Amino acid sequence: MSMQRIQDQFERTIDYMRISVTDRCNLRCIYCMPSEGVTPTNHDNILRYEEVVRIVSVAARLGVKKIRITGGEPLIRKKLSFLIASIRSIDGIDDISLTTNGILLKKQIHQLAAAGLNRINVSLDSLNAEKYSEITRGGDINTVLEGIQLAQQEGVSPIKLNMVPIRGFNDNEIEAFAELTVKTPFHVRFIEFMPIGAGAAWSEGKYISSEEIRQRVSAMAPLIPVKLRRSGPARYYRFENAPGVIGFISPITHHFCGSCNRLRLTSDGKLRPCLFSETEIDLKSALRSGAQDEEIERLIRLSVEVKPQGHTIGHERSFTHLKPMSKIGG
Ligand code: SAM
Ligand code: SF4
Repeated sequence: MSMQRIQDQFERTIDYMRISVTDRCNLRCIYCMPSEGVTPTNHDNILRYEEVVRIVSVAARLGVKKIRITGGEPLIRKKLSFLIASIRSIDGIDDISLTTNGILLKKQIHQLAAAGLNRINVSLDSLNAEKYSEITRGGDINTVLEGIQLAQQEGVSPIKLNMVPIRGFNDNEIEAFAELTVKTPFHVRFIEFMPIGAGAAWSEGKYISSEEIRQRVSAMAPLIPVKLRRSGPARYYRFENAPGVIGFISPITHHFCGSCNRLRLTSDGKLRPCLFSETEIDLKSALRSGAQDEEIERLIRLSVEVKPQGHTIGHERSFTHLKPMSKIGG
């Protein structure tokens, strides 16, 4: 089978698909989901695994190599390791990663790793048990930490910890997170708080720029820039002799649109060319009305063609009308 390479009209090569397998979640992080009143998508409208696998097979023929499984919380979807093993067996896919809140990692990491999962990102916004429970509205940090430890023992590498600093709330822990890299090989990544999703949570005053975070971290000790092979949108540094690295992801202040290589597949089967644009292409309806692979390929190509050059989130800070990250697939 011949693999192609697909480029959009701005000469960006699209080789990465983020797949949301559910819009449900076992937590309610204050910056992502409201405490109540979110209606999850009806089960019948969520893509079945065989449908996801079919889409990935066609996308792989077009040059998609890298898959990330996300949600909602992907680990609440039953038999996720079955999906991972199926994706693993698709020609052309060379990297499968997972973004999770880590609550169910402890129970599942062994099976997931055996199925072929290469890497994980765990969202962790506090190292303090009470604060963690407050941010996640009830999550138990010890369960997450045990899951991370087991993942290390399973040889999953690298393990990335994603933290969203919010001013006046958890930003007093920026230094503690950075310090984790001195003793562990974790990639600690600070992500700018974005004005999407649970709109009421975001305000200009709570948002902290990557530059400000970096200055605080570099006041601890000099930061040495690091070039990582798969750096994606993050810019990485390390403290001298530290095994771990510190990354900054700046969707607001440093648009990484110029090197964006991704498409997103929502849990209800829509291809979304850009996180910040409402444009979606409905693959589920096509699949369920009996479309041949050629038609699926045409729709994937179409979503690459309409991928916008960039977004304006830094300029007009009013993206709270967008669906929450749990719906789009963060
Ligand atoms: N439930 C999984 C988790 O928490 O890792 C996967 C989905 S979650 C929507 C993916 C990522 O989106 C998390 O790292 C979370 O911190 C991030 N996220 C959600 N809302 C955000 C916001 N308003 N600004 C910045 N990051 C956000
Ligand atoms: Fe759930 Fe992840 Fe959103 Fe937290 S960030 S509410 S864990 S989807």
